[in-house]
Amino acid sequence: MTTAADAVIIGGGVVGLALADAWLARRPSDRVVVYDKEDRLAEHASGRNSGVLHAGFYYAPDSLKARLTRDGNAMLRAFCGEEGVVVRETGKVVVTTSEAELAALDVLAARAAANGVHVELVDEHGLAELEPLARTVGRALWSPTTAVADPVAVVRALAGRVERRGGQVRLGTPVVAAGPGWVQPAKSDRIDAGHIINAAGLHADTVAHWFGVGEEYRMLPFKGLYWYANWEPGRLQRHVYPVPDARNPFLGVHLTVTVDGKAKVGPTAIPALWREDYGGVAGFSARELAQITALYPRFLRSAHHDVPGLIKAEMPKYLRRYLVGQASQLAPSVRSRDFTTKGRVGVRAQLLHVPTGRLEMDFVVRDGERSTHVLNAVSPAWTSALAVADYVVDGIVAA
Ligand SMILES: Cc1cc2nc3c(=O)[nH]c(=O)nc-3n(C[C@H](O)[C@H](O)[C@H](O)COP(=O)(O)OP(=O)(O)OC[C@H]3O[C@@H](n4cnc5c(N)ncnc54)[C@H](O)[C@@H]3O)c2cc1C
Repeated sequence: MTTAADAVIIGGGVVGLALADAWLARRPSDRVVVYDKEDRLAEHASGRNSGVLHAGFYYAPDSLKARLTRDGNAMLRAFCGEEGVVVRETGKVVVTTSEAELAALDVLAARAAANGVHVELVDEHGLAELEPLARTVGRALWSPTTAVADPVAVVRALAGRVERRGGQVRLGTPVVAAGPGWVQPAKSDRIDAGHIINAAGLHADTVAHWFGVGEEYRMLPFKGLYWYANWEPGRLQRHVYPVPDARNPFLGVHLTVTVDGKAKVGPTAIPALWREDYGGVAGFSARELAQITALYPRFLRSAHHDVPGLIKAEMPKYLRRYLVGQASQLAPSVRSRDFTTKGRVGVRAQLLHVPTGRLEMDFVVRDGERSTHVLNAVSPAWTSALAVADYVVDGIVAA
């Protein structure tokens, strides 16, 4: 028996759910089904991130990330307000560890202006007033619109809104094959689908390849470890970030405040050996291990990144003392003995452009036959999800 849906979304993370929500907002009588392979919501990146509502000042002004993060920040705040999800208004400071980083800090301030994001440059005294634990050399950048929320609470609220709009969220249902106009969920009838949207996170490249889309891309996952402080809640008030290395898509080890006021250090960007490499052998796949290690010779020769430098900088961060030591350059009172509770490990669904060895910096959205593929939904796609969904669904509905 075959059943039918107007839109099928593969992947029920924050992006997939936002896509369903946006579709139903435009076409309320359509049959929209979201499939997720896990039995529970937010089992992957959408529930394993820092929960930081990014402001949108890091990204090149002509990028999707710049526009969709600025807009997504405002949309996610409004959504949280409507759904009763708490947002903690932490703001964020970006600090320097030497004068050599001041030029890069100014570039961030210029990007903020170009992206329409409000930031301020403050001196060392200004920083001390904003966040007494943080240190900088000369200047720091203050972002008042950066905030934090519980990522799992956001995903649950979004799934609730999709269901209230009449959408179906089918958990515990991996999609095992799909092509233009059809989807095959495991142990279930084949579905005729008007349009298919691929929001499969760490598996988005595999799903895209079923449609002959994005063949030049492979997933190159990076693991993010966190450690929580045993400090009393509220001791750290603001997120504290370093000046990022512009050659890499990662922001560097930072200190963040959770929605309930706890401080945590992380995440790392350690190469993962398989997609769901969260620790131990959980999610181990020999096939993925072979595929990912086969990508490294090309990636190591990449002219776009200092890959040996990246690996050399990241691997010692497996050691808690080293990782926390990095964060103490941002806030000297950070001590490794205070950061002993391990956080939930996350893996970044980072896309590698195989022919050039380049890590894609921007979100990548590709059209296929009766399908759309959201690739490289890396940070800050949790912040941007509602804006990404509007952008994608408007493109489909208008076509
Ligand atoms: C360590 C870390 C820290 C981060 N910090 C931040 C932050 O502070 N702020 C921010 O904005 N962003 C952050 N991000 C990025 C953010 O988490 C992601 O961009 C976002 O969660 C991506 O959402 P998604 O729905 O694409 O992916 P996911 O949450 O991975 O969802 C994809 C879903 O697809 C499902 N799936 C896969 N294959 C199939 C299949 N074949 N059939 C059915 N289901 C399938 C999976 O089960 C999964 O639930 C961080 C990410 C990481 C890893």
